[in-house]
Amino acid sequence: MVWGMSSKPINPLYRSLAFRLTLWYAAVFLFCLSLFFTVFYFLLQKNLSLNLDEELKTQLTTLESVMGASGLKAVENMVLLESRATGDRQFFFRLLYPTGVAFSSSNLSGWHHIQINKEAISRLFRGERYVFETNRVTAIQDPIRIIYGRLDRDIFVQLGRVMHTQGRMVRAFNHIFLITIWFFVLVSTLMGWLVAKRALRGLNAITQTAQEISMGNLQKRAPVSNRGDEVDLLGTTFNTMLDRINELLTGIRDMSDNITHDLKSPITRIRGNAEIVLTTNSALDDFQNMAANTIASCDQLLEIINTSLMIAAAEKGVMTLEKEAMDLAKILAQAQILFQPMAAEKNIELKSSILEKSPLIGDKRLIQRMIANLLDNAIKYTPCGGWVETVLSCEVKEAYLITIQDNGIGIPPQAQTRVFERFYRCDTSRSQEGSGLGLSLSLSVAKAHGGDISLSSTPQKGSRFTVRLPQQPTG
Ligand code: ADP
Repeated sequence: MVWGMSSKPINPLYRSLAFRLTLWYAAVFLFCLSLFFTVFYFLLQKNLSLNLDEELKTQLTTLESVMGASGLKAVENMVLLESRATGDRQFFFRLLYPTGVAFSSSNLSGWHHIQINKEAISRLFRGERYVFETNRVTAIQDPIRIIYGRLDRDIFVQLGRVMHTQGRMVRAFNHIFLITIWFFVLVSTLMGWLVAKRALRGLNAITQTAQEISMGNLQKRAPVSNRGDEVDLLGTTFNTMLDRINELLTGIRDMSDNITHDLKSPITRIRGNAEIVLTTNSALDDFQNMAANTIASCDQLLEIINTSLMIAAAEKGVMTLEKEAMDLAKILAQAQILFQPMAAEKNIELKSSILEKSPLIGDKRLIQRMIANLLDNAIKYTPCGGWVETVLSCEVKEAYLITIQDNGIGIPPQAQTRVFERFYRCDTSRSQEGSGLGLSLSLSVAKAHGGDISLSSTPQKGSRFTVRLPQQPTG
């Protein structure tokens, strides 16, 4: 964690997600608009060209009929009239020999650059009815549409018209396109920016929360609206993660407090012994007693450390089991005998209902230790005059169930999930003997044998620990 880091990292606008989203939005919008305009433009142009082509074809057909009915002179007159009526700069014609040489034409000043397309004449020779082409001359702004046709065996005609309407349409279109495109670029950028800003508002709130947390405010949570969208999901997940981290941190803090507390007593005792040796003139017996006390305190410390290491190994899945065949019923019966004096001291009745033979393969020493922990707790946390009952059954298929129940002080609901944690003890004053490792180790042993331990408890009424052990352990 970087404490005291700046709350706002330098983030240039062009690197922001909002900026990139806006760009994307505007680009997609522009692309769609351009596509629409292009398609519209081509359709319109095609339509106008078709109209002009139809006009030219009709004109050609009329000339063919006039040629058939009244001869070449009538055709010549007709096209001359047409060229005058339409205007020399709008329409032209040429009458051609098969060689492509013109023998009659309208006023061609301004049209000279329009060549005679020999290929078109060859195609007419090959039987095509007409051939179209589009051409340009520098003197005229718009393109020229030309039709070639055959009026007689050896007479061809070339008619041309300026594509005025198309030209006007293209200019108007360009004009409109340029204005609308700018307008839409502005509108789409603005809209994109607003949409991106709105969509990212939730993300910004989460970022701000994360920054505040990194500054040390671990209780801060990201705001979550009830829209149920992706940002909400991110916020909820983020908050759940923070709760979990907080829980783990509290757990670690509690555990280190507990460890400190549990290590303190034996170390204080050892120190006390050493101090007495230095400051008093004790007799040999006293020294021997102090040495024995020191050994006992060291043993207590070593026990805590070894059990801790064993649990850690089990949690990592590397607990080594020295497996052997055993009879679970026998182990439970022996435990009853072993704990009888401790129970008798508190006038606690030890009851049991144990199956006759319960073969099991497992680590006998660890299973004995697990049962001893549970029985020890049951007696320890049951007031004088109470009872502790041990039941061994095989209700669940292929698994033994060991139930150790007492009518003692019970465990508060909020502590029931935590009693299996290392060093956790319900009694924070630690008036009872113990290290808070017993249940944690018991659970590790059960799990290492492929089983589990469950707990049900009511404060002031008692607790029931149920160990499930598969008959053929997988662990
Ligand atoms: P400890 O060495 O303190 O007994 P354990 O891990 O065995 O450590 O148990 C953890 C805590 O769970 C105990 O400190 C006690 O508060 C609670 N506990 C365990 N067994 C019982 C029980 N049978 N009745 C009431 N509380 C219990």
